Amino acid sequence: MRIRYDRDACQGHNRCYLLAPELFDVDDDGYAVLRVEGEVPEELRGKAQLAVDNCPEYAIGLDGD
Ligand code: SF4
Repeated sequence: MRIRYDRDACQGHNRCYLLAPELFDVDDDGYAVLRVEGEVPEELRGKAQLAVDNCPEYAIGLDGD
């Protein structure tokens, strides 16, 4: 499972960061930054799904198993 992020769609709500700070950070402009390159660790998959489900702009998604 990998996280897909569309910077152009991101509006900087920071819900992802609040729900899954292990996976997302915030840049100086308030937009999301991925903290994990490549495969999401097994123990963080639930949080990745939670963040994706709560992104109001559909700016993040999950690829793979
Ligand atoms: S929740 Fe979605 S729109 Fe908001 S900062 Fe995260 S990726 Fe961007």
